[in-house]
Amino acid sequence: MSRTALPLHPTVSGAPSPGELARAGSDAGSPMTDGFGRTIRYLRISVTDKCNLRCVYCMPEEGLPWLRRDELLSYEEIAEIVRTMAPMGLERVRLTGGEPLVRRDLHRLVEMIDRVPGIRDISLSTNAVLLADHAESLREAGVDRVNISLDSLREDRVDAIARRPGSFSKIMAGLDAAERVGFAPLKLNVVLMAGQNDDEVEDFAAITRERPWHVRFIEVMPTGANLGVSAEATLSCDEALARIRRIGELEPAEGPTGNGPARYYRFPGAPGSIGVITPMSHNFCDRCNRMRLTADGQLRPCLFGDLQTDLRTPLRAGESIVPFIRHTLRVKPERHWLEQGSDAGSGGLQALSQTGG
Ligand code: SAM
Ligand code: SF4
Repeated sequence: MSRTALPLHPTVSGAPSPGELARAGSDAGSPMTDGFGRTIRYLRISVTDKCNLRCVYCMPEEGLPWLRRDELLSYEEIAEIVRTMAPMGLERVRLTGGEPLVRRDLHRLVEMIDRVPGIRDISLSTNAVLLADHAESLREAGVDRVNISLDSLREDRVDAIARRPGSFSKIMAGLDAAERVGFAPLKLNVVLMAGQNDDEVEDFAAITRERPWHVRFIEVMPTGANLGVSAEATLSCDEALARIRRIGELEPAEGPTGNGPARYYRFPGAPGSIGVITPMSHNFCDRCNRMRLTADGQLRPCLFGDLQTDLRTPLRAGESIVPFIRHTLRVKPERHWLEQGSDAGSGGLQALSQTGG
């Protein structure tokens, strides 16, 4: 299969039906429940497709064809989408990317979202390289909590996986800053890779005995850009849990705030917990509560697949986006069909940085 032939973003999922267009007014206040009875309260917003790292499982070394400035939604446009979705039941927003902290003045967007009635939780997914510089302003603006990606506890490995020397020390400074300004709960995301970091599973788990952190292991998902990695380097979360159980008994635990697809465990009495996110080995789509907004204004009902609805065009034309949101809900698929070693189920996606992961 030719990877270069794939579009940066897959094609549009279609347009609202005449009925959806006619009901724009009355639909504006009703809950976002999809055809499978799942109610959407959570929106992951990608504020940029760019990144200061090149994690081996995410982006190719040379980067990707970036979006142009005029293709990106402005902060005002993003806030308008959140304002439209809040009366439809949106409660929680996560800012992600690419790397969200490479977009200038992110705290301005946070302030705008924080003012939207009904939004009760604003979180951030970051690689933390720039977090030390921004933690305070983001906290003041209204970010409640952060998820930090950290795939190893060893400097040489972090720098190698991120393909950027010097990353580790900046990430550590970012972690310190996150604790200092009081982002809580603090979640660490660890992408599991056999032969690259799987011998650190126990060390990561041990952190939760000392600190109130939530360490989450994630199975690598195949995209066009990482097929080489995912085909040979997969490790299931079941295997990770089996290794952790060799160093101590685990009990099922309540998830921290923002409980999504992860299942949680803890060592009895430990302040932190261990989460597993198993897109490959145990499908969790029946619990899906989210949609995704790409940096160029495509509303995606699923992380994978080729469904997305263009919100940017109607927004810039001054039209109601409610029918476009309804339409996206109507086509939300029951589940994804990812398969390890193949990008067939990824809908032409090169990297999770394109949809906000
Ligand atoms: N740059 C930020 C970061 O790294 O946290 C936010 C965007 S990143 C795409 C969001 C999450 O997706 C990160 O935790 C990252 O580790 C994870 N991720 C990226 N590509 C992945 C893949 N192919 N499989 C599993 N997780 C992936
Ligand atoms: Fe960047 Fe995050 Fe992708 Fe790593 S996982 S390349 S930090 S977007």
